[in-house]
Amino acid sequence: MPQRRLFVTTALPYANGNFHIGHIMEYIQADIWVRFQRMQGHEVNFVGADDAHGAPIMIAAEKAGKTPQQFVADIAAGRKPYLDGFHISFDNWHSTDAPENHQLAQQIYRDLQAAGLIATKTIEQFFDAEKNMFLPDRFIKGQCPKCGAKDQYGDNCEVCGAVYAPTDLINPYSALSGATPVLKSSEHFFFRLSDPRCVAFLEEWTQDGKLQPEVANKVREWFSVRTNADGTQSEGLGDWDISRDAPYFGIEIPDAPGKYFYVWLDAPVGYLASLKNLLDKRGVDYAAYMADPTLEQYHFIGKDIVTFHTLFWPAMLHFSGRKTPDNIFVHGFLTVNNGEKMSKSRGTGLDPLKYLSLGMNPEWLRYYLAAKLNARNEDIDFNADDFMARVNSDLIGKYVNIASRSASFIHKKFDGQLASNLSPKSKTALDNILQEFTTEGVSFDREGFISERLKEREFGKAIREIMECANLANQYFDACKPWEMAKDESKLFELHEVCTVALLAFRQLSIFLQPILPTTAENAAKLFGESSWTWADTSVTAGKVYEHLLGKTINEYQHLMQRVTPEQLEALFEPPAQTEPAQNAANLMANTLPGGEELAPTITIDDFAKIDLRIAKIVNCESVEGSIKLLRLTLDVGEGKHRNVFSGIASAYKPEDLIGKHTVMVANLAPRKMKFGLSEGMVLAASHADEKAQPGIFVLEPGPGAVPGLRVR
Ligand SMILES: [Zn+2]
Repeated sequence: MPQRRLFVTTALPYANGNFHIGHIMEYIQADIWVRFQRMQGHEVNFVGADDAHGAPIMIAAEKAGKTPQQFVADIAAGRKPYLDGFHISFDNWHSTDAPENHQLAQQIYRDLQAAGLIATKTIEQFFDAEKNMFLPDRFIKGQCPKCGAKDQYGDNCEVCGAVYAPTDLINPYSALSGATPVLKSSEHFFFRLSDPRCVAFLEEWTQDGKLQPEVANKVREWFSVRTNADGTQSEGLGDWDISRDAPYFGIEIPDAPGKYFYVWLDAPVGYLASLKNLLDKRGVDYAAYMADPTLEQYHFIGKDIVTFHTLFWPAMLHFSGRKTPDNIFVHGFLTVNNGEKMSKSRGTGLDPLKYLSLGMNPEWLRYYLAAKLNARNEDIDFNADDFMARVNSDLIGKYVNIASRSASFIHKKFDGQLASNLSPKSKTALDNILQEFTTEGVSFDREGFISERLKEREFGKAIREIMECANLANQYFDACKPWEMAKDESKLFELHEVCTVALLAFRQLSIFLQPILPTTAENAAKLFGESSWTWADTSVTAGKVYEHLLGKTINEYQHLMQRVTPEQLEALFEPPAQTEPAQNAANLMANTLPGGEELAPTITIDDFAKIDLRIAKIVNCESVEGSIKLLRLTLDVGEGKHRNVFSGIASAYKPEDLIGKHTVMVANLAPRKMKFGLSEGMVLAASHADEKAQPGIFVLEPGPGAVPGLRVR
């Protein structure tokens, strides 16, 4: 097999917070693939880095009373426990604020400039005179020009979903100082993506079959003139604004004082900077390494950053005379316990460090995610029950079980020595487990099938096949009834072969699983007195790989893996301390009343008087884009202005059912900022404590004649 040279990266995490489970999923996906390539004998440089620049980090650092450099250094210092904890085998971890990245980003810019692809244009932008800086879209707020909702961001309205420019906002204000921003013109630098050379290159590069089909299709839409969801026209590829004005935490644009690269220009350059830093440390020449025409370059990314990696990044590289990626591997998002729904009742999701601190085996998670991952850009869900089933019944019940059962006979009956020869019958049995299988009349070589699936990132399919082998090994072992052979002196010879076959099968399965379970495989190798395996150790043809093991004394079997317990999962998803005990009590008391919950503790009339209940008229009602639960109600409480209230009643009412009706609202409830906007009160509705078991929500309605503003007492 000719040795390939691969340069592999994961997306650079933004250095304003710790890793979440989505990062860990991507690292595990890439790490499994990288470990498999290394086992194949290929040379891989696998690197990551912190994405350190941009306005959000500058502002967060200021809030924390740190310099941006100190702020990102503190974040970077917290990366190691995650990466080591989940066995992510990066060769290097670096930062986009490192000197290599400054130098590379500036050189790429100069090369693009020389190619005639940099243009300047004067644009008008909001400026915060108090902070003396231009404001990024996310730091300008105001009233939505379309629906009038307050406190909306400068780029889109979270209440009605409208997309607009910050300059369209009504009564805009700076989220940094509260000051009213002023329009100020500034010269910006643009990468001319609309240049016919760029368009022609990208149409070819993105559509030549290398990208995942669903990704290529999505990208194709960006090339054509089209009408957007909000009715505006898009013109195909537009020029890309790559500059930001000082103050900005980033890389200075050469020969342009006070101008910095937009963070997304230098972020992917960080891949190269981390590689260069690694090669410099090893004394390898970076330029020569990159100039090798056989070098392959791959980036693992999430579906949210496809534009940057399939348009801007390859175009930047190509037109600056550099190597373009061989592929971009896009994965979907990871949801936990079926997304939002469960995470509300089971806490904030899956915290990777908490997982490790509970003593949960990182390889359970690697195995579980691998079993769910495929090569497509699809979301996957972490489900606690499914996790426990796959770990306990597949990994322990099928795989580990083979070794623990057969090794104990080898030690008890044969002084730890494997059979020194296999009869033709036993050889055939081993071949049946490991060699070939047939589906729809086509014969496959099992090792070849599994290595192909790992190569194309179809990890779930690889695991299914590996577990099929484990099933066969267990079936063989059970059918031979070794526990009966052990009682019969005349059958000991046969028992020796059966256990040897089972252990050789186990060894082979361990080699298949090594990219996914590196530590478990290493421990399995110790059983046979071997160190970690290469993929060449898997070729079972003609028995040559196990010949050296026949007659060999194996080491004492050490238990390879514990089971996951319900208590561990319970603890993992236990919400952090400040939960309402009343809620739990209510659940325990379910069924004591038709409503499914016990009466609340007695209150005084004064307690009740604190709640200001008013008759309200529902003057408007609409569904909330992005939420299946909520309706947005516009209420008249007789105050001469309207109130905006979100209510979780969408499962029971259509918006048109409610418009014009009267109801009762809590009028003095503190306003609450929700994902979709501000909620200024609450309408009253009845429901069972367990809405799933007994559906039905009933909005309260006053008798005829009640008018908005009347107090309910
Ligand atoms: Zn709006």
